[in-house]
Amino acid sequence: MSILKFKSILPKLSSGILRNTLLPTKIVPLKILCKYSSGSNLQTQENEHYDRPKLLNVHLPNTSEPLKLHPIWLRDHCRCPECYNDVTCQRNNDILKLSDQIAISTYSQSDDLLHICWSDGHKSSYSIPWLVSNTYDGKYKALQEETDRLTTWDGTTVNLLGLEPISHQRLMSDDKILREIYRRVIQYGFVKIEQVPPTKLDTSAVIERICRMSHTVFGKFWETGTNFDHKDTGYLNGYLEAHTDNTYFTEAQGLLVFHCTHFDGTGCESFLVDGFHVAKQLKQLDPSAYGYLSKVNMESEYIEPGEHFSSWGPIFRHHPVSHKLEQIRFNMLDRSPLSSIPQEEVGTHYRYLKTMATLVKKKENEYRFRLSPGTVMIIDNWRLLHGRESYQGERVLRGCYYSRSDFMSKARHYGIIS
Ligand SMILES: [Zn+2]
Repeated sequence: MSILKFKSILPKLSSGILRNTLLPTKIVPLKILCKYSSGSNLQTQENEHYDRPKLLNVHLPNTSEPLKLHPIWLRDHCRCPECYNDVTCQRNNDILKLSDQIAISTYSQSDDLLHICWSDGHKSSYSIPWLVSNTYDGKYKALQEETDRLTTWDGTTVNLLGLEPISHQRLMSDDKILREIYRRVIQYGFVKIEQVPPTKLDTSAVIERICRMSHTVFGKFWETGTNFDHKDTGYLNGYLEAHTDNTYFTEAQGLLVFHCTHFDGTGCESFLVDGFHVAKQLKQLDPSAYGYLSKVNMESEYIEPGEHFSSWGPIFRHHPVSHKLEQIRFNMLDRSPLSSIPQEEVGTHYRYLKTMATLVKKKENEYRFRLSPGTVMIIDNWRLLHGRESYQGERVLRGCYYSRSDFMSKARHYGIIS
């Protein structure tokens, strides 16, 4: 969205150049909203001009319904250089200097622009499409009404998605492929990059090419199979049931990157389960279980010498605005002692948890494959569950996490999410 530059509109108004110029609104004096009492107690009083103001009607093309805007909102969203720094993309204005008595003196609308002269002499110009896409109806409500566009899959349908792996050579030489990588991760939950030389250096270069590595308690670029640096089951060679990582972090890492750079042994088949697909199945099979696991907070923890991570949350976490499923937190091994419900409700709790665990372990839901040297796999840790069969022999698995915030920032930059 382009940033509006401040421009004076008075000469245009006085010379009558503007088309569709509307009659100026009456100057509306606004009374003081807040008062202090007993020194530090700030109280708010309802003020009819502030709480039930005369909204400005902005006429939109192709609809008879005007865009209705509060004068205070408009003044707070002025994008002139005095009010907004378009280099840092941050506001310059102090909310306490936003006068309660501010009012629109005159306004006019021309093409895609709305011009306002304020009662204190300040002048603002707004792009009308920008106003539309940043108000309640255009953004918040649109987000609530947005349909789900993700493609969920099971162990059979995953093979029908037609996802050709991306080659290492293409990744390293073609900037356009980066957007495709982000699109696939958002749409399907994973992406594979093949023909990557199985070295530490090449793996690290692939990882850094896509997004910045996250630094966690496990380091930035981790390695399992050559050491037991962290007291986690993932560092051993036993069976690992399907799970998501970091349920004990305040914000679980968003993405996992794996590269098995060396394997000389038997076993070790990997599997992924689309947690969003399992969520749909559970919702259909037992809606009360889905509702319960979306509501009841469970604590998870990770403890090693000098560290004790803990976080609370439900298994299904929904977006606060769209209410769509946003994250699955499912790791039965990292559960803390169950303290979030009274003992009388424990039976129901385990019944629902087992229903969910049964769906997660259903063979039909598993996408099975072998992580072999040369294939880098990026997995959405907020959506997919990952697991592994036990193995005998030598195995070196390298990888890292991308933080959710970092990965989604890039996805937004590429226009994949809003
Ligand atoms: Zn301004």
